[in-house]
Amino acid sequence: AKGAAMVTAVAYRLADQTRQIAQTLAEFRLSKAQLLEVKKRMRTEIENGLGKKTHDSATVKMLPTYVRSTPDGTENGDFLALDLGGTNFRVLLVKIRSGKRRTVEMHNKIYAIPIEVMQGTGEELFDHIVYCISDFLDYMGMKSARLPLGFTFSFPCHQKSLDAGILVNWTKGFKCTDCEGEDVVELLREGIKRKEEFDLDVVAVVNDTVGTMMTCAYEEPTCEVGLIAGTGSNACYMEEMRNIETVEGNEGRMCVNMEWGAFGDNGCLDDIRTQYDCAVDENSLNEGKQRYEKMCSGMYLGEIVRNILIDLTKRGFLFRGKISETLKTRGIFETKFLSQIESDRLALLQVRAILQQLGLDSTCDDSIIVKEVCSTVSLRAAQICGAGMAGVVDKIRENRGLDHLDVTVGVDGTLYKLHPHFSRIFHQTVKELAPKCNVNFLLSEDGSGKGAALITAVGCRQRRGGAS
Ligand code: BGC
Ligand code: MG
Repeated sequence: AKGAAMVTAVAYRLADQTRQIAQTLAEFRLSKAQLLEVKKRMRTEIENGLGKKTHDSATVKMLPTYVRSTPDGTENGDFLALDLGGTNFRVLLVKIRSGKRRTVEMHNKIYAIPIEVMQGTGEELFDHIVYCISDFLDYMGMKSARLPLGFTFSFPCHQKSLDAGILVNWTKGFKCTDCEGEDVVELLREGIKRKEEFDLDVVAVVNDTVGTMMTCAYEEPTCEVGLIAGTGSNACYMEEMRNIETVEGNEGRMCVNMEWGAFGDNGCLDDIRTQYDCAVDENSLNEGKQRYEKMCSGMYLGEIVRNILIDLTKRGFLFRGKISETLKTRGIFETKFLSQIESDRLALLQVRAILQQLGLDSTCDDSIIVKEVCSTVSLRAAQICGAGMAGVVDKIRENRGLDHLDVTVGVDGTLYKLHPHFSRIFHQTVKELAPKCNVNFLLSEDGSGKGAALITAVGCRQRRGGAS
């Protein structure tokens, strides 16, 4: 009888534990009504960002990019491109040929940016960038060419022209001194001058979303939206000039860099943020900023997971109640690990092997729970990202007074490309929340490089006084 009582007690404890874990994760499960609410709020913030009176206090900045058209195929020439702010820093040479057989040929080299440089002084950062360009030009044998350059700089920038961008604030893993409030093109030019080795003609500063949209639009003219679901999260789209009250003129369209990562910074998403989201924010380099991004981009999903795992361990539900040093380490769950853990092809034993690699000793039960935590967090990420996108495509549809809109979204980013479920759930959510839009998604091949070159080509043409 004593044994039976013990079995019952254990069974009861397990059931209770399962219930408590489910309760914790339930906070991440959003209803369709909640997602529609996210879509609606995104729409409100979009209007605030575009409006003359509301812009200054708006969180979603809706920054003008001075890109007024998508490519038309006549772009031509050799260009350098820089790609800073994604998973890798790269320097590229892009050769674009127009005519009957359009071609784009690219050469690139990846360079590491040490964390001391990412979080050092602005001068050190730009010296490092210029050093990498110098190395690349040597490698390609092009030191004396003075090529036009497009700078893909994947951070929020206030632009008053194509070739100037004032950094609003750093995001993601960057935090260099003396850059915020400065024109990053000037900082780059000064770095090039300091080195006194070569000269370049900086023609355009480009957000990665815009580069992605332009790259896809080069192949598919219906592409008028760009999305990055990677280290960070952001979107851009072609907005009507008449709606962009922060720029003179009412004719035609201009691409707007939404900077939607900052959605929620005024508290408008507080009802769906969990204690784990708040913990991730508090431990970040930019507390209080980029709250939406911190719920849906690659740099932070693993951190949300880690914070949940710590809590579950503290409550005795995981890892035998022992919080290891590894679990205390920031950034251990990179996108590629989450992607592996959530892969359907992986047996539980392999999940345990991955956790082992990370230095986490798990039982079989642990690995089931970890996998569930990961999929809950990434499900919400894909859904709220989809809700934001639904808001965008419906805005474009209404702009054009249409009952039905066909549109293509160019997409890039490690989360979108590597994760086994993110893209599918994201697509499905957009479809459900914006039923009047038929949205087609196109993966961009190297948007940050190719797109920057295409925009630079258009910029050179405009300068020569040609049609834009
Ligand atoms: C930046 C955006 C960028 C996005 C994706 C965000 O943190 O603020 O400018 O487009 O990351 O890289
Ligand atoms: Mg990129």
